Formats: sequence, structure tokens, C-alpha cells
Amino acid sequence: MPFFDQAETFRKAWPAISGHVEDVFDRGKFSHGRKVSELEKAVAGYTGARHAIAVNSGTDALVLLLRAAGIAPGDEVVVPAFSFAASATSVALARARPVFADIEPESYALDAASAASVISERTRAVMPVHLFTQMADMDALRVLAADHGLLVVEDSAEAIGMRWNGVHAGLLGAGGVLSFFPTKTLGALGDAGMILTDDDEIARLAGILRHHGRMGKTIDHIAGISNLSGVSGTNSKMDDIQAAVLLAKLAGLDAQIERRARLAAAYTERLRDVPGVTRLPTIVERTSDTNPVFYVYVVEADRRDDLVRHLTDRGIGTEVYYPIPLHLQPCFSALGHSPGDFPHAERACERTVGLPFYPDLPESAVDMVCDAVREFYTGRTG
Ligand SMILES: *Cc1c(COP(=O)(O)O)cnc(C)c1O
Repeated sequence: MPFFDQAETFRKAWPAISGHVEDVFDRGKFSHGRKVSELEKAVAGYTGARHAIAVNSGTDALVLLLRAAGIAPGDEVVVPAFSFAASATSVALARARPVFADIEPESYALDAASAASVISERTRAVMPVHLFTQMADMDALRVLAADHGLLVVEDSAEAIGMRWNGVHAGLLGAGGVLSFFPTKTLGALGDAGMILTDDDEIARLAGILRHHGRMGKTIDHIAGISNLSGVSGTNSKMDDIQAAVLLAKLAGLDAQIERRARLAAAYTERLRDVPGVTRLPTIVERTSDTNPVFYVYVVEADRRDDLVRHLTDRGIGTEVYYPIPLHLQPCFSALGHSPGDFPHAERACERTVGLPFYPDLPESAVDMVCDAVREFYTGRTG
């Protein structure tokens, strides 16, 4: 049983997808064309964003958002030490410096007190990452940002459908991003991503940066735009074929999110009393209203690597998000961190494992996975 499989999802959505794809063929524009504009409008509608700007990947979305928000060489951006690499590499690619902070142990999201402790006079922004199921503590982090005059740039790549007091993830500060990488909650047939923002100027600059500094059909170079003079744009346009796939799948997204919640509940029910599984996904109660969306189903487990081997031997796929904390990644060795600097992030890297999880996973498969997990710890499946 694979960790992830969406063949069935695509088969079901194919009539809708093929209609949109035929539209793309008929119009003959395959990159940054009308299908991409349609998708931008649809995602803006779904999220309530004033601007949704389609790009090549979630990573590009972060880099271009940081640059459009004015993050410049020498600036520091506070990033959680437990996340996908792009949360921090995007800061480096924007020629700024990631500064790491620890996470909350239950939500795996940036801890506001730890973030506060690493702020310096060069800090320009704080980057909450909304991982796995839920958003970071946006009340605490927004107060922190306001107190220190910082921008809030959200890595909401995994967070489509998550809302904070009704406001969609990515729209609680300067802006956020979405990734449409195939495994994400809304996945394309390849790479694609989007910037979300309510800020007209950030949207204008991001829209220019994604296309070599071009504005509309003219070729006004970016050097002509005062606050970006001397800055080059890039090629980060979205393919219309990906936009076609995403438009079709967006229509079924809420149903898929519900299905994900049911599968997560099934896992939780069956794993609740398994010794050795020391934490099931824990939705933290916040003072504000927030809704979980299960992008993945991640547990903490004793002897995690042995458990992974046991499951692999039984043909069950797993995924470890993320085996190495960002502050100990070789590419950030110049920052001079050592083990022990961020204990919650390090502990999460040692103990977490994602179990097979996708909307068309049958509940009988959940039973099988949970039996195998129980067998590993107790020697019995029942
Ligand atoms: C997937 C992901 C990204 C990057 O998205 P890509 O589309 O793969 O470039 C960034 N941050 C987080 C937290 C992610 O999960």
C-alpha cells in the first residue's frame, strides 16, 4: 500500500479535467494564458484573497512574495527550525538571512516565545509555517510582529482550506503562498504554486517579478519601477495545463477535505490505545476560531525507524517529514547551530512519521496499517 496515490482521484475528476484541458488546446496558449487567469479568479474566490498570483511552485511563490514584500539583502527572517526546506531556502534565495526558532511540540508550528527570543535590529519579518493539520498561533505571532514592526509572511503551502476566525491562511499578514505539488491537499499533475495577498503593491510587484519584469503585453523592464530598480525578475509562470487540472479539482476540494477528516478520525480511533505511538495529531485549542485540514496524518512513535522498516516489510509506505531540522542542514552550517539548540524541532525530526493518507484510501487500508503498527509494538494485531 503506497504512502500516497491519486490515480483514483484523477480518474474520478477526469471528465471535468479533460473539459478544461480541451479549452487550453482550443485557445493555443499553454503558459500564463486564460486558464491560469481563470484559476487565479477561482482561488481568490475560494480563499477570499484580493489577489491570487499563479507561479511555478510553492517555493517560487515564497521567494517572489518575500522579494515583493521588500525583504532585501541583510534582512533577517525568523523561520521555524522544523519545516520543509523551502521555508528557509526561500529566504536565502531572496538574499536575506533565515534565523531559526523552535516550534510548539503539539502543533509543530513556530513558537511565539522562541521567535521573540531571536529578534534582532535586523529582523524584518517572521514566517509562520502551517504544518500538517493546523495553523500556527497567529494571534501571538501577529502581536509579536506588531510590537517589533515586522512583516508576517506565511508559509501556507500546506494550508489550503485552513482559516483563522474565517480568514484563510496566507491572508493574516503581508501575504502567503499555496503549493499545488501533486501530494498537497490540492495537487496538480506536476509543479505549480500561488501567492495570496490582500496588498495591491505586493501583488503588483510579484506579478511583475514572475515574468522577467514584464507588465502585461508591454516589455517595460523592471528597472523602470522605482522600488525594484536594479532587481531582475525571473520566469515563474504557471502552465495552463496545470491550471486546467487545478480548476477541475478545486470544485471537489471541500468534499476531499471532509473525506480527509473522516480518514484521520478512523486512524485516531484505531491508534488511540497502541503503546509506543506517543502522540496522535493534536489540534491545539486557540482563543481564535480555527479549523483543521488534514494534509497528512503524522504520529510520533517510539523506535520510529524500526517501525518504518516493519511497515516497509509489509508493503506499507510511510514518509518522514522531516528527518533533519533546518538548523542542522548542511546548507545552513554557516549559521553555526548545534544539536540541542531547538529541542522540540529535533525531537519532532526523530519521532514523527506520516502514515498512508490520501482521499481515496479505503478504510480497510487504515485497518491494515493500524494492525501492522499494533503488531510492531505488541506482537499482536488485535
Ligand atoms: C510543499 C511545501 C513548500 C514548497 O512547495 P513546492 O510547490 O514543492 O515548491 C513550502 N513549504 C512547505 C511547508 C511545504 O509543505
